[in-house]
Amino acid sequence: MSKPIVIQGAMQVEVAVLVSRLSGAVCETAGGWTFWRGLLGGVPVVISRTGMGMSNAAAATAIAIERYAPLAVINQGTAGGHDPQLLPHDLVLGTRVIHLGAFQSPYRAPGAGSDTLAWRPLDLMDQSETADFTLPVPMSFAADPALLAAARRAAYPAGQVVDGVIGSSDVWNNELDRIAHFHARYGTLVEEMEAASVAQVCGQYGVPFLCVRVVSNNIVIGAPHDVATANACQAFVAGLLPLYLPPAPIPALLRPA
Ligand code: SAH
Repeated sequence: MSKPIVIQGAMQVEVAVLVSRLSGAVCETAGGWTFWRGLLGGVPVVISRTGMGMSNAAAATAIAIERYAPLAVINQGTAGGHDPQLLPHDLVLGTRVIHLGAFQSPYRAPGAGSDTLAWRPLDLMDQSETADFTLPVPMSFAADPALLAAARRAAYPAGQVVDGVIGSSDVWNNELDRIAHFHARYGTLVEEMEAASVAQVCGQYGVPFLCVRVVSNNIVIGAPHDVATANACQAFVAGLLPLYLPPAPIPALLRPA
């Protein structure tokens, strides 16, 4: 069988549609992580339930890459809007995923309080062993161009589909000033709790990555969480698979020595 594409969702509701559509499904576990191997519309896939949050997502990604040597990893699921134009069921194709959970706070004396908007982004890949490993903008991971091209061509009847920046951290933000700050300064359209971690691990392995997220809630416009939006996102991702043509491997004879 040719190499699979890993499709991730954090929670059972974010993978259930994909798992129900698998043919020849085989369920495997590692620690607390579950993987379903099978064919989705004839395409070999591994559906991965990562669990919520950055550490769960990182571990699930590393395990999947080591076990299944995938062609690519697609992280998908629900997200909260940072942009007032986005309604529940709208879809964001993550041209970039940024890390919204790694910061260094400037010094403040006891009693001086906390100002998270002044925190400086950290470079978690810094190897310089200097004290200052801050960045002007958070760590950012670009989508694989071939995966993004496939997603742009896929059909989505449930809402609008937009390109944009997806922000990730272990925080569910409900402070509107903090959300506005991320949206204005870093261009985030939505936030969620896994993708930057997955992108970082994929980057370490050199595995193509894409994040697709459906807006399930948008506090900016007062739209409450509707977890049923996860179904539409899964259907979209299933539909993009046949449109994905991974770059052909370079024949051994043409490879530089
Ligand atoms: N367990 C809760 C839902 C948790 S939702 C329940 O059953 O109601 C948290 C998950 O949804 C995370 O995996 C995250 O990726 C995603 N998510 C959706 N909206 C989010 C938001 N506004 N902020 C952060 N994560 C969000």
